[in-house]
Amino acid sequence: MYTSQLREADMKSSAVKSVELDIDWAVQTVMPIEFRGREIHMEARAYQGHDPHCQAMVLIHRDNPSPGELPVVRVHSGCVTGDIFHSLRCDCYPQLQASMEVITTSRLGVMVYLPYHEGRGIGLVNKIRTYALQDQGYDTVDANVAIGAPIEARDYDLAAHILFDLGYSRIALLTNNPAKVNALRAEGITVVEQRSLIVKASPYNKRYLATKKERMAHLL
Ligand SMILES: [Zn+2]
Repeated sequence: MYTSQLREADMKSSAVKSVELDIDWAVQTVMPIEFRGREIHMEARAYQGHDPHCQAMVLIHRDNPSPGELPVVRVHSGCVTGDIFHSLRCDCYPQLQASMEVITTSRLGVMVYLPYHEGRGIGLVNKIRTYALQDQGYDTVDANVAIGAPIEARDYDLAAHILFDLGYSRIALLTNNPAKVNALRAEGITVVEQRSLIVKASPYNKRYLATKKERMAHLL
């Protein structure tokens, strides 16, 4: 666990000017968090791009990483219903928890949280609309098609810029989604390793998980 007082004092309120094109600014501080009964001190950064929707929260856990340590990274798409209210219709919350467990026990762990990736990028209202269609029997892919929304609208440009900004162009990625690995690779990130997050299905998300496996090639 990272607790150096000197380091915390050094880091407080230090503004970081990004050299990357699409990031207007980034700021950092130290954020103590409670996770599964433990108090953990994370380096916290916020990034803002030109577009107001281009925003990210980054939490970094360092525990004496060796030089050139491969960071274990989660690029997590924000999900209000899952992450905050623990909705059982998706697996976002258990995936977030499983990622935080790995990150907070790694020598170098990084959470890149993207609040505007809601509903695979279609937004909160459209996501709830697709839920209503799923109540009528559509699966998660067909429901998006039915409301004229893309099946996958997430952009990993900002996440890649952030990883470059942090100096982490080679990573181990925590994901079940091969498309996310490919999207980050297309942005120039070297994904050395893909680590799956195995989470338990609930009666409410069984079909959703099956669709992700069958129609979106997720490793579940
Ligand atoms: Zn979700």
